[in-house]
Amino acid sequence: MNVFKNIFEKYVNPDRSIRATLFNIITGTGIIGGTVAFIISCLVGLDKIQLWAIAISICILYYGFYIANWKGMYNQAAFCIVALITLILFPVMFVTDGGLYGGMGYWFVLGIVFNYLLLEGISAKILVVLQIIVTLACYLYGYLFPERIVGFDCPEDMYIDTVQSVLVLAVAVGLIVEFQQRVYNRVIRKLDEANRKLTESEKRAEEASMAKSEFLSTMSHEIRTPINAVLGMTDMILRESNEKKILQYAADIDISGNALLSIINDVLDISKIESGNMEINNANYEIKDLARDCRNLIKDRAEKKGLNLKIELDPDIPSVLNGDVARIRQIVVNFLTNAVKYTQKGYIELKISGVRDLERNIYKMRLEVKDTGMGIKEEALNEIFEKFRRFDLDRNRTIEGTGLGLAICRQLAELMGGIITVDSVYGEGSLFTVILPQVITDGTPLGNINLDIDENEIRSKYRKETFKAPGKSILVVDDVEMNIKVFLNLLKDSEMYVETASSGYQCLEMTEKKKYDLVFLDHMMPGIDGITTMEKMKEGINKDTLTVMLTANALSGMEEEYLKRGFDGYLAKPVKRTALEKMLKNLLL
Ligand code: ADP
Repeated sequence: MNVFKNIFEKYVNPDRSIRATLFNIITGTGIIGGTVAFIISCLVGLDKIQLWAIAISICILYYGFYIANWKGMYNQAAFCIVALITLILFPVMFVTDGGLYGGMGYWFVLGIVFNYLLLEGISAKILVVLQIIVTLACYLYGYLFPERIVGFDCPEDMYIDTVQSVLVLAVAVGLIVEFQQRVYNRVIRKLDEANRKLTESEKRAEEASMAKSEFLSTMSHEIRTPINAVLGMTDMILRESNEKKILQYAADIDISGNALLSIINDVLDISKIESGNMEINNANYEIKDLARDCRNLIKDRAEKKGLNLKIELDPDIPSVLNGDVARIRQIVVNFLTNAVKYTQKGYIELKISGVRDLERNIYKMRLEVKDTGMGIKEEALNEIFEKFRRFDLDRNRTIEGTGLGLAICRQLAELMGGIITVDSVYGEGSLFTVILPQVITDGTPLGNINLDIDENEIRSKYRKETFKAPGKSILVVDDVEMNIKVFLNLLKDSEMYVETASSGYQCLEMTEKKKYDLVFLDHMMPGIDGITTMEKMKEGINKDTLTVMLTANALSGMEEEYLKRGFDGYLAKPVKRTALEKMLKNLLL
């Protein structure tokens, strides 16, 4: 039994190759069937030509079996066997073995089945046509020249010949069907298994991605809370201390704290983009505001390095465009920050221009940032927008960075339907360009504007004067004492009545009794969270009170979410004095 099992596994194993296995089944059947036929034919005393034909067929089959299994030449073997046997030997056997009255018809059928199963492509098609022609020719020959067909000596011979042919055909077809069914079942089983695994891993990936988002959101919250305290306290030192050395220390803490914050923001952004959750929020905006914001954000840093900052706006820019200005600003500020970081002397230039596509009402805005810095080696240019890629580390060792900035820029530009490019001459400078299609809301040309004259909001970063709103009553709700302390200090000179609560419940107690002008609420607090507190509070006397969400949950898209829930404003921690004052001004004055 074991011998048969071994043979079966070696030659009839569907795991090898379906065609190779079929080839073995068919040629094996042919060899065994042919040998039986040969023996029976010898016993019944067929004439020599027939015996030769059968013997040659068996030899061809055996040779084919040999070169296929030992030399790996399945295709050639299959083609030669089918062609030789069905086009040459079968006609000979037909003429010499009773023609119409013997079992040859079944062998013609087996030849064509054999062809369909083993050969593919054009050679299979040509062979089928030839087989049909030869079969028809044999029968026509038998019809036209019956006297040339060697008949059977007696009816028994005819019956034996027919019966053995029927049996060979039946067994061969049975085996083929059985085999195909096995293969089919096996494939289905494997497919089911693969599907199950796929669903499982999809589920696991989804869970992992959820866990990642959750982790990032928690991490963002957890890291921002202490930075909030560090930056808030630093701000107080900068405002209150007169000691030069202390001021210098505090300024350094401020720079490092902000750098840490921007790294966290980058990591959050890239993971948001990768999980497909980055949304583009389009709204109307003015180019001159964008240019002014970019300049204000980079001016101090450029000045500190003695770099000249030039801004050039094409007078033909449409006054109002529609797009995601926050994301555009993020890209440009990233370019500008890099330009400052990687330039030692010379200038940095921001140029905004573009072309109008009036038919589609689109402005193809081109934002370019040029510097006269160290430049980028040619071989690095292709990879500069990849994640975590930083170059020239020998020269840049002292320059901080994560290699995420430009990767985020490219992804953001692509999300907005734009493209980003870089040109650079090593040692001379670089030019970063982003082209973004923006919808034109107001096509009136911007004209020649001077950002400095237009500027009425220029303030020094650590200026000493403060926002004031005498008599307004404010409630700040946060469970972290340090946050409250920072907040109170930021509002210290505002001449408002500022009260505090350390939980949602305490806030509800206080707002039941007193009406406030504005309530700042932390999001995640033990007990009830900021959103529920706001909703409950609005059921009472404070139903018209303004509310601002004050949270370390700084994932992009949160602002819209909070506004949708009914808040009037949103401030990310660490709260910046300028952002807080701008918010108060908007809401209270
Ligand atoms: P980071 O600046 O945080 O390292 P970026 O993704 O912003 O990451 O930039 C990737 C790399 O591209 C930088 O490390 C630097 O080698 C190179 N690079 C970017 N901008 C400039 C520039 N203006 N001049 C020279 N090299 C630059």
